[in-house]
Amino acid sequence: KETLDKGLEKTKDSFFSKLGRAVVGKSTVDEEVLDEVENVLISSDVGVETTVKIIRRIEERVARDKYMGTDELDRILREEIAALLSDNNTSDVPDDFDLPVGKKPYVIMVVGVNGVGKTTTIGKLAAQFHKRGKQVVLGAGDTFRAAAVDQLKLWGDRVGVPVISHGMNTDPSAVAFDAVKKATDMNADVVIIDTAGRLHTKINLMNELTKIKRVMQKVTPDAPHEVLLVLDGSTGQNAFIQATEFTKATEVTALAITKLDGTAKGGVVIGISDQFKIPVKYIGVGEKIEDLQTFNKMEFVDSFFK
Ligand code: GDP
Repeated sequence: KETLDKGLEKTKDSFFSKLGRAVVGKSTVDEEVLDEVENVLISSDVGVETTVKIIRRIEERVARDKYMGTDELDRILREEIAALLSDNNTSDVPDDFDLPVGKKPYVIMVVGVNGVGKTTTIGKLAAQFHKRGKQVVLGAGDTFRAAAVDQLKLWGDRVGVPVISHGMNTDPSAVAFDAVKKATDMNADVVIIDTAGRLHTKINLMNELTKIKRVMQKVTPDAPHEVLLVLDGSTGQNAFIQATEFTKATEVTALAITKLDGTAKGGVVIGISDQFKIPVKYIGVGEKIEDLQTFNKMEFVDSFFK
């Protein structure tokens, strides 16, 4: 929670100073205040669609109650944001980094464009699972970048888990097959497979991800159990665009939003989850292993507002 508070500091500071300015000299929430609140939400990268939704909900409350003091605005905003997050995120995870029972190995396919923190997120995830006594296998399926393969191997060494790699420019689906096979043979708990995210070739992206899935299903018919899309939270609208493209190319089941520590625009978590109806499973609030956290909506809202 402390790490989370610290990670969201920039967002919170900026959000609050802007919100403070929006209500200065005003005692009631009127049209003018709502316009300002709208600007604050949009500038925090909540996204237009979700911002409009939040503003509309507040308008409805003002209309119903006839009056809303600006001193209540924090509380109301917090309630509405928590309610929005609840629509797409289940109640709190029982234990951080728990794996579902009955799926062994649990297969996670990780997608996302270069630079968003994909490799780092996989390394941090591996470390967290390993720390909890789980057997982990990694698959270096981003075979288009030598750096990605090397970096994943470094993480494997660092954490002490096997990395399946065929080197650069090899068939990623063969890597996925071998990684799932290896995990099955050694009765591992979880296998995490990296993939290349090249958005400029959309048809290829779809074909490639479909093929990787098909091939791993030869080993585990219901794999992948999770398709985790990694987005860089500091890229604002780009993160929305990437989410649009990846959800078209494959069935994304969970989101990891990274680099929230480096941005004042943490509202992206609220907007993306709402717009794409996909749960945010992990958030990245720094470079250290423990800076990858499981997403807890109430803690997030608390950190955002306190
Ligand atoms: P990839 O190209 O998507 O695999 O990206 P990398 O995993 O190589 O990450 C790119 C950079 O982002 C690295 O320098 C990471 O340390 C950094 N990074 C990843 N996640 C976070 C985060 O949550 N916070 C911060 N501050 N940096 C991060």
